This record gives sequence, structure tokens and C-alpha cells, in this order.
Amino acid sequence: MASDLRAALPLLMPKAIAWAESQFSFIAEAGQPIDSSLFAVAQSVGVLHPELIRIAEVSHLPLPEDPELRRVALDAGLLGQGMVGLTFGYGVYICHGHKDLRLLSHEFRHVYQYEHTGSIASFLPIYLEQIATFGYDDAPFEVDARAHERCHA
Ligand SMILES: [Zn+2]
Repeated sequence: MASDLRAALPLLMPKAIAWAESQFSFIAEAGQPIDSSLFAVAQSVGVLHPELIRIAEVSHLPLPEDPELRRVALDAGLLGQGMVGLTFGYGVYICHGHKDLRLLSHEFRHVYQYEHTGSIASFLPIYLEQIATFGYDDAPFEVDARAHERCHA
């Protein structure tokens, strides 16, 4: 599974980046800015520019139209069943009914990681390489995001 992803990464990376950037553009249009309490949460997990965050609540997370990209993302556990949040730069998808502090603080830490790496195009190769090497649960960016989950504001 992970080795499939590793083998596919070089060819898929440009598609993955283009897809992620298009998702960010959608959220930037359709999403909502965060309120002052969430602003504080974002700051508390290290986000430099919480004012740029947009949240789009959706009934289900998007899947790439490209069949190969979709298959690899599903196989790697990045998308699909059980996934209720997804972050592209400053754009955060949250599935209806899951907009809680734990998930938001987790996704905001991913925003921090995007800020830290510089862009979607610089974050994704690192993140996907981590998923290919360690698997989703043990990918360092996921471990770091879980370590910054908040249960109380
Ligand atoms: Zn995560």
C-alpha cells in the first residue's frame, strides 16, 4: 500500500499539487473566516496568520477526479471513509457534524505546517513522502497535528 504510493509519487505529485491548489481556491471562495475564539485556538497551535484561514463545511470530503490520484489517496488512507477534516494551505474542509475543537485544532496545526513549509507545493511532497514511508498514522506531520489537538479552549 505505502510502497504503491511511493512508486506512484513522482508521476502523481504535479496532479496532487494542482488538485490541492484547486481545492484551496474553492475553500477561499466558499469558506468562512474563523471567529475570535477559533482565532485564539489557531494562534495557540502556532498559526501565524489565522485571519487567512477559511473553513468550508461539507457533507463529504472531495475526491480527485483523476482515477489514479483518487485510487492512491484512498489506498493510502488519506481520503475516504472516516476522514472528516482536510486542510489545503489556509483552507480547511470540515464534514458536517464534526466541527469540534479537537478536529479544528488538529487541522489548524496542519495550517501551521503549510506556513512552515511555505506553500501547498512545498508541503505536499514532504507530507506524501511521510505517508509513503511511515503510513498515515505515523507520518510525522500527523503525529505533530495529533500532539496539538485541544480538548478545551
Ligand atoms: Zn491530520
